[in-house]
Amino acid sequence: MNLNISGYTNLLCLLGHPAQHSKSPAMHNEACSILGLDYCYLAFDIEPHEIETAVKSLRLFGSRGFNLTMPFKESVIPYLDELSKASYLCQSVNTVVNENGKLYGHTTDGIGYMDSLRDVDFDIRGGKMTLLGAGGAAKSILTQAALDGVKEIFLFKRKNASFQDTVSFAERIQKETNAKIMVLDMADEYELKQAIGKSDLLVNATNVGMEEDISLVKKEFLRQDLFVSDIIYHPSMTRLLKDAKEVGARYLNGEYMLLFQGAAAFELWTGQKMPTEEIKKRCFS
Ligand code: NAP
Repeated sequence: MNLNISGYTNLLCLLGHPAQHSKSPAMHNEACSILGLDYCYLAFDIEPHEIETAVKSLRLFGSRGFNLTMPFKESVIPYLDELSKASYLCQSVNTVVNENGKLYGHTTDGIGYMDSLRDVDFDIRGGKMTLLGAGGAAKSILTQAALDGVKEIFLFKRKNASFQDTVSFAERIQKETNAKIMVLDMADEYELKQAIGKSDLLVNATNVGMEEDISLVKKEFLRQDLFVSDIIYHPSMTRLLKDAKEVGARYLNGEYMLLFQGAAAFELWTGQKMPTEEIKKRCFS
């Protein structure tokens, strides 16, 4: 932990509601301490209507940058100067970089997810994936997967009021990338089984599995050569991952997505690679 705070120390932070539970302060402060970088990372729990004031203040204080978590990933956008391509496509920002007073918005959730796959030597480029959910995290993952060269994506979502918006979002991503994207009804078990049968990777990006020991996917839809991942990290083994383990499939939870989205943000701010192996030991074991 960096305790050498001086008048030169630059502020990095997280804005969220809630924010205090986050692992980001521990992760970034450890990384700064290991590399001898003069930053201090704090977490601020602010009310939804305070986002504009918070962004203005951080700009005034000359903060090098900040992270956003729920509920600010979209509502921060009007207060920024420019967005990265991925951020623009999925209309989500989790990292802001201050370049001489100009604020650039990025989304590193999708990068973090793709890097967490690379970290366990799983390469989905050119392959097919089934993605469950169409919330902020799912959109960021889908965008990055499409930008990185995943060939076909089956996106399952509840057929509710936001279904058509998800279809429009998928059409936008499809137009901007080479990925073929189908948006399907989560309640359609036949389609789900078919899609998983064709996929190399299954990703749960919904909240299902966090509070209860349940899964949106029947165990018999899984198979040994399917890679199964859940972006939930608490609990570390959701019902979906337990089922994957039982059928002998490779599986991964969301812990290292969290690590690698932070690592990508860290590099944008500092220009240096986060020492992720050391951070795994110090903050994730
Ligand atoms: P979000 O924007 O609220 O989206 C939640 C999604 O889950 C929505 O698409 C929603 O469907 C779907 N959903 C919720 N309950 C469902 C149900 N019973 N059946 C089917 N679909 C259901 O949340 P988010 O920010 O994307 O986060 C989603 C999960 O990812 C959370 O558990 C969060 O903790 C985790 N997460 C992990 C990381 C990481 O770094 N590992 C990062 C971000 C988020 P509708 O669209 O139909 O409403």
